[in-house]
Amino acid sequence: MMNASGSPVRQSSVRAHNLALVLQTVANSADQPSRAAIAASTGLTRATVSALVDDLIEGGLLVELEPAPRTGAGRPAAGLALAPDGPAGLGLEINVDYLAACVVDLTGAVRHRLVARADQRLLSPEAALAELGRLAAQARAAATIDGLTLAGAALAVPGLVTPDGLVRVAPNLGWQDVDAAQALRKVPALADLPVAVDNEANLAALGELRADHGGEPTFLYVSGEVGIGAGIVLDGELYRGGRGWSGEIGHVTVFPDGRPCRCGANGCLEQYAGQEAMAADADLAAAALGIALAAVVNLLDIDQIVLGGGYAPGFDRLRPGIEAELRRRVLTAELAPVTLRPATLGADAAMRGAADAVIRGVRDNPAAWSGRLG
Ligand SMILES: [Zn+2]
Repeated sequence: MMNASGSPVRQSSVRAHNLALVLQTVANSADQPSRAAIAASTGLTRATVSALVDDLIEGGLLVELEPAPRTGAGRPAAGLALAPDGPAGLGLEINVDYLAACVVDLTGAVRHRLVARADQRLLSPEAALAELGRLAAQARAAATIDGLTLAGAALAVPGLVTPDGLVRVAPNLGWQDVDAAQALRKVPALADLPVAVDNEANLAALGELRADHGGEPTFLYVSGEVGIGAGIVLDGELYRGGRGWSGEIGHVTVFPDGRPCRCGANGCLEQYAGQEAMAADADLAAAALGIALAAVVNLLDIDQIVLGGGYAPGFDRLRPGIEAELRRRVLTAELAPVTLRPATLGADAAMRGAADAVIRGVRDNPAAWSGRLG
């Protein structure tokens, strides 16, 4: 086989690609496919699939299930599934009024979930990250007792994050240029793990995309905490923007001469629909959200809006007010309705999305995970 540049594709990269293909086929199947079914859907030969499946089983990523007893002729085929005891992801979240950690196994099941409620604005970034490190260590210990091995950790933060894990600014935490990835790598319980840091709404949007199998590939995910963030998913891909900082819907202007915002401007959405403002006046929060969302829909032609974070439990209360503004302000509202729904993962979407990002890394490149597969 030749690649685009004309040089022979290395056998190991073909193998790595095929391992990922087989693993993804099992992960994306509604049922537990047999080896023959995987061969049929991937176009690989049955012998090749069988060898790859054996390696994935030995590597702890797949399990073979006992076939259901069947009467009559023909031997029933064994089904394959992701290994519940395979590599797990540690999802971490730091937000204004809580810290959270969860362990999600390779099948996507949450095995442990820890939440510590406390106002992080009262702590320095170093102290808040040290607290989070303790929570992470507890989660890892619980995973170890279950016999799970962590493949990595990912942290969700309500701020602008660079690809190497530097939090440039998190206005509601009062953070500026905090190297969160490096701080977490210094936690002894995490020292041997890859640690990634990303914006909480982006991670939540990706988690939502994967949780909602067969759902819309284009949607806006809006996360309502003390601050408000959004993740823009277009055709199944997260749109990060030119510098990776898209989705700052909390600072979209809804009332030009309105309340002063922490960012220095006036009348930002966050001042009317952030968690604290929403508790004071839910109707105003819904109207302000509807105004900002109508602008997004008019601009991007996104017809599905997912409300997460603190908005998920308050969804029924907010919905009529948001929909009234969308009907009034979206040009195409009469041609095609905009769908609003609460996040499938509820208020846990960001930390679940963080853990899911780790799991996704294993599923996308199983050869890198286990030396036995390489
Ligand atoms: Zn603002």
